[in-house]
Amino acid sequence: MALVERSLLGPGPTNAYPEATAGLAAPMLGHLDPEFLAMLDETGRRLRTVWGTGNLRTLPLSGTGSIGMEAAFVNFVHPGDVVVVAVNGLFGERMCDVASRYGAEVVRVDHTWGQPVDVERVLAAHPSPSIVAAVHAETSTGVRSDIEHLGAALRERDERTLLLADCVTSIGGEQIDLDGWNVDIAYAGTQKCLGVPPGLAPFTVSERAWHRRVEKPTTWYLDLGLIGNYVTGGGSGGRAYHHTAPTAMVASLHAALGRLLEEGIAAAAERHREAGEALQTGLQEMGLDLFAAEGNRLHQLTSVVVPDHVDSADVRKRLLNDYGIEIGGGVGQYANTVWRIGLMGPNAGLDRVELLLGSLRRILG
Ligand code: PLP
Repeated sequence: MALVERSLLGPGPTNAYPEATAGLAAPMLGHLDPEFLAMLDETGRRLRTVWGTGNLRTLPLSGTGSIGMEAAFVNFVHPGDVVVVAVNGLFGERMCDVASRYGAEVVRVDHTWGQPVDVERVLAAHPSPSIVAAVHAETSTGVRSDIEHLGAALRERDERTLLLADCVTSIGGEQIDLDGWNVDIAYAGTQKCLGVPPGLAPFTVSERAWHRRVEKPTTWYLDLGLIGNYVTGGGSGGRAYHHTAPTAMVASLHAALGRLLEEGIAAAAERHREAGEALQTGLQEMGLDLFAAEGNRLHQLTSVVVPDHVDSADVRKRLLNDYGIEIGGGVGQYANTVWRIGLMGPNAGLDRVELLLGSLRRILG
């Protein structure tokens, strides 16, 4: 079967940066080769910069973004712990499921989809939970929540609660300051604004959260204590084999982070903003309505209301077949009534905006 080129303008994966693709094709290194370990160390340093954290334990986990979510809960939820989850889309819902599987007493704070997290309601849900979890950029709805405000409010209330943030769709597409925002545990994915194929979950944990981790979690593969012995040498400098690191993926992430830092985190965020705003303006000029609440719309992922009498799936099929463009449908009850258009990583540019708007205009007539 012939391979075809696509413009991946959906909710992810996005097209990869050339540097990320070159990283995949670089000569293979063993996972204990000093050259590889130096690259892994540098990947951790680059992730710290991109995330705005000094956390020693900042590393790429083997697996997609969901592995980051699993690791975040399985390593930090002790049976019976109260975990407050802000749910304003699919990924908040998934957090509830994952946390409950590891024995959390989950307190769900439901929001209307399309709205950002309401910090006051989250605070009111429980006086002193072990963890509060929220999604920074909800990919299912295209909404950004104010993690900085949430972190400040939690810290002002008490020192006990850990803040856990999903950064899968925000990393690389906007400025993040995990330490300044009082985030203790965060995970991400590679296939969105970092412009790397799917396969790794950047992960970071603060010192104070680390001391409260589950000593022997019910998972062997995602036990951060064991993985840490390989990635950071467990503090002693020695590296112990845990599992075979996906070396080509690490090389790809390393290269993409290098190009991001060369462009500048602020410049990359500005590029995503400019493209996202141009797309949103263009869609509205075509008479289309945006789904996410105004003022909280992501630039990297725009959710659009499918007009009445338009067959959502048919439009997506024509975009793919006639123009080589992939966009996403909606999720859950919005499966057929919302489109999701991503401008992430290398696709955050005005050329992609024009391509998408022009193609959509021709299809909608
Ligand atoms: N969290 C968010 C916000 C996401 O957008 C996604 C994937 O789209 C995930 C978690 C899960 O990541 P993955 O599909 O890479 O496992």
